[in-house]
Amino acid sequence: MITFNGVTKRYADGTVAVDDLNLEVPTGEMTVFVGPSGCGKTTSLRMINRMIDPSGGQLLLDGVDVTTIDPPTLRRGIGYVIQQAGLFPHRKIVDNVATVPLLLGWDRKKARARAMELLERVGLDPKMAGRYPFQLSGGQQQRVGVARALAADPPVLLMDEPFSAVDPIVRTSLQDELLRLQAELNKTIVFVTHDIDEAMKLGDRVAVLRVGGRLAQLDDPATLLAR
Ligand code: ADP
Ligand code: ADP
Repeated sequence: MITFNGVTKRYADGTVAVDDLNLEVPTGEMTVFVGPSGCGKTTSLRMINRMIDPSGGQLLLDGVDVTTIDPPTLRRGIGYVIQQAGLFPHRKIVDNVATVPLLLGWDRKKARARAMELLERVGLDPKMAGRYPFQLSGGQQQRVGVARALAADPPVLLMDEPFSAVDPIVRTSLQDELLRLQAELNKTIVFVTHDIDEAMKLGDRVAVLRVGGRLAQLDDPATLLAR
């Protein structure tokens, strides 16, 4: 479980990006942070894996203050997917995914087998495995990004607008596949989007943020819709 205990982030220029955020992200569920641009979604996400540290309050991972965990150790248990998949351009798709298991000390053959299995799970045509990122569409690259984030089998997955840059039809199928994958994997997911429809479709729970970094609502989609 991820717990925001009165978390505040004030940047050096005085901008308060996140203001006294209190919420829990339950283990094995997908919680979506939704709200307009600038409401502190990315900042909230980045405090979980210590790309940024809070200026106030506490952020706990299974009860442990994340700022007491060194970032490499923390990130071993946290997959991270961003809007532009950020694949290594000079490595084949299979090797992009195998990189993480290799870093963990797996031998090359086993790491590649793991990569191929993951690519299949995220719905990528196996023919693409030997290609380079620039030869894939944006939607295919995002699938690879998800596979890479899952490579070390982290319990936590952070997803920052992962499908926002792909066209609507592909986006719908990526969303469907994420739901299918999550039904099997039960990761603890924090998913950030500005798209309320996406939030309602994907979230077990939806946290609505407003500009100024305050939590406006937090509930399951059915309850939010009924309001
Ligand atoms: P969102 O992801 O919801 O668009 P962000 O977390 O990116 O929101 O940003 C929240 C607020 O913090 C915005 O006003 C943004 O301009 C500001 N901000 C983000 N990063 C920085 C930074 N490094 N320095 C100063 N202000 C920042
Ligand atoms: P550097 O700037 O020293 O390369 P990065 O912050 O980019 O360090 O991180 C190094 C590696 O960790 C990169 O492969 C990057 O994709 C990955 N990474 C970066 N941030 C995170 C994160 N928050 N969680 C998991 N992996 C991350």
